[in-house]
Amino acid sequence: MKNLTYLSILLFIYSCGTEAQKTITDYAESITETELKTHLYTYASDEFMGREAGTKGETLAINFLKDYYESTGVSGGSTDGSYFQEMTVTDRRGNSIDSYNVLAYIKGSDKANEVLVITSHLDHIGVEEDGQINNGADDDGSGTVAMMEIAEAFVEAKEDGNGPRRSVLFLHVSAEEKGLLGSKYYTDNPIYPLTNTVANLNIDMIGRVDSLHLEQPDYIYLIGSDILSEDLHDVSEKANQDYVGLTIDYRYNDPTTLVYEFGRWRENRYYYRSDHYHFIKNNIPAIFYFNGTHEDYHAPTDTVEKINYALLEKRTRLIFHTAWEIVNREERLTLKEGGEVPSDD
Ligand SMILES: [Zn+2]
Repeated sequence: MKNLTYLSILLFIYSCGTEAQKTITDYAESITETELKTHLYTYASDEFMGREAGTKGETLAINFLKDYYESTGVSGGSTDGSYFQEMTVTDRRGNSIDSYNVLAYIKGSDKANEVLVITSHLDHIGVEEDGQINNGADDDGSGTVAMMEIAEAFVEAKEDGNGPRRSVLFLHVSAEEKGLLGSKYYTDNPIYPLTNTVANLNIDMIGRVDSLHLEQPDYIYLIGSDILSEDLHDVSEKANQDYVGLTIDYRYNDPTTLVYEFGRWRENRYYYRSDHYHFIKNNIPAIFYFNGTHEDYHAPTDTVEKINYALLEKRTRLIFHTAWEIVNREERLTLKEGGEVPSDD
């Protein structure tokens, strides 16, 4: 009995010790391919009917996200403390759509007024006329579940007393597929002042491998990292070198680099084609994380079993490490002197 008592005391001390010594690597390791896969198998299932903005599929998606954040202990980030930013937006055909952004928020400690915004789009393109469902597992189920796991890692750290110094807003924007409307709505009607928004990390399609990287799939495209802030680029590079070791491909930093899409070669223009654009145009430095397009892009064949989950885990951990440094470093990221926001003309 006595020995057992000693043993349990020792175990108690040991567990307290490890608790206090948890490192960023431990939190990053809470991001697992198993959990990413579990979330995605629900989020990109037929039940969600392609998650088109303004449809029942979108309602299912936003409630799924709300339930997740509630059960994970992440607060709502909207003005009234709810998880939803209600909006009416107009699509390219002039139709008005009632839609919702989903916001989850972790308040920072000593620099709480400064906010990092992580984005991915919750919507996709719905159901085809012939009834085939566009599940959008990669686009952008992959970015959505990555954000869910990053939020969980930050919550775990906060519960151990390692909360972020700056605040983190997990902003799931909608109506991206209708023309980046949810992110435009947010930056036109920000819940947290844009002047205090230190950076945007935008995740849109990170679960697949494109035809250029079939031989060496451990890569990711980063777009925009050094355009407004050299600091952001350096933080991102260091996070990758210290913890993850992916090959970072910067070829699409140049919007004129050609890509083969929809049956023809054209300028990629990715810098303007996802939700980070509305942050950039407000002079907020941003990184767009992207795997490139593939044959299932915007097709009913963009499905869960084609996702490379081990790679999704690695890429998600890279974004987590980058976010961690941005919110915990002493100095706010600085903008390049005389740095100009490129316009979308
Ligand atoms: Zn997308």
